[in-house]
Amino acid sequence: MLLDSNLNEIKEGKRITAKGYAVQHKDDTFKPFEFSRHTLGESDILIEILYAGICHSDIHSARSEWHNGIYPMVPGHEIAGRVVAVGSKVSKFKVGDYAGVGCMVNSCGECEACKASNEQYCERGMVATYDCKDYCHNNEPTYGGYSNNIVVSEKFVIMVPQDAPLEKVAPLLCAGITTYAPLKFSKVKAGDKVAVAGFGGLGMMALKYAKQMGAEVFIFARNKNKEQDALKLGATKLYDTTDPKIVIERFDLIISTIPTPYDITAYLKLLKLGGEMGIVGLPPSEVDPKIGAQGLIFNAHKKVYGSLIGSIKETQEMLDFSLKHKIYPETEIISANQINEAYENLTTGRAKFRYVIDMATL
Ligand code: NDP
Ligand code: ZN
Repeated sequence: MLLDSNLNEIKEGKRITAKGYAVQHKDDTFKPFEFSRHTLGESDILIEILYAGICHSDIHSARSEWHNGIYPMVPGHEIAGRVVAVGSKVSKFKVGDYAGVGCMVNSCGECEACKASNEQYCERGMVATYDCKDYCHNNEPTYGGYSNNIVVSEKFVIMVPQDAPLEKVAPLLCAGITTYAPLKFSKVKAGDKVAVAGFGGLGMMALKYAKQMGAEVFIFARNKNKEQDALKLGATKLYDTTDPKIVIERFDLIISTIPTPYDITAYLKLLKLGGEMGIVGLPPSEVDPKIGAQGLIFNAHKKVYGSLIGSIKETQEMLDFSLKHKIYPETEIISANQINEAYENLTTGRAKFRYVIDMATL
């Protein structure tokens, strides 16, 4: 077994071999790919990946929609698995524990943001789980979770209890934290009216968390395909954004998870005075939505902010909160050879919520 050979590699101080699925360029489809990861450092752990979620960020990255990607690229930053080896100075984990990894695997550790436990806002830049040059390891490219293993500094690994449903935990490590963080940042409370724009992997988590926090939740989608799902999951109403006249509600908070071009100002108009709009959806650079001085001033005394995933501390808090209240993503388990199909579905409106790859099928 590959993992047995990994243990031998660790004993011999060698790089750790891995296999997964990669694209070789932005127009490529996913194919099996073999590569190696850096050696196990004294504070690192080796995780056997059991499940990996597919986030829309994976699609933006694989297709170089934000910046020129680093290829070959193995995406995946919603990772859940089992610890198979630990470095000599590891204290948080032991072999056999469940563990999770999200969007980052390191940061400088020295700047104000890192010292304040906000590694995602590291001044040097966080080391992203994939499509990134790892400045802690000679700038070698990082490879993500569409693979059988990963080596990560324990500081960036989330503790997952043994009784947690791992295939549901994986998507929490990006979709969960990315929507939990702005709801906390905006201090959502019972009775608030919250709108969620874009109802996919992130949108469904925003709905579930906002409901748990006591808010009344409204969904904005560009069609009515998922209206029944929205109502079943507790939304008061689903608005079809292709029919703008119908919106009469005003909101305390809008969370936008939209990954395509759209009119931000149109949403600002729907905020109550003093309301807030948290933007997490990140459309491709070429069609990045803009907001001008007029849009802001004629929607004055409302606040717009962006939010990038969440810190390691907050991710642990989000996971504990999710497990305590049994807030889990709606998932569809797929095999590794279905990644291309999943990407197709996620970009043509045929996907429902979160695809999760079962790594036993690698
Ligand atoms: P999904 O593809 O799962 O969901 C996106 C949803 O948005 C789909 O339901 C889609 O509907 C809907 N949608 C698309 N365009 C519009 C529109 N104009 N108006 C209303 N709804 C629309 O994506 P994810 O939830 O995984 O990710 C969403 C975005 O968040 C991505 O851009 C991703 O990169 C970003 N992201 C940002 C993070 C951060 O830290 N800020 C972290 C993680 C993700 P349809 O089915 O009709 O296409
Ligand atoms: Zn993500």
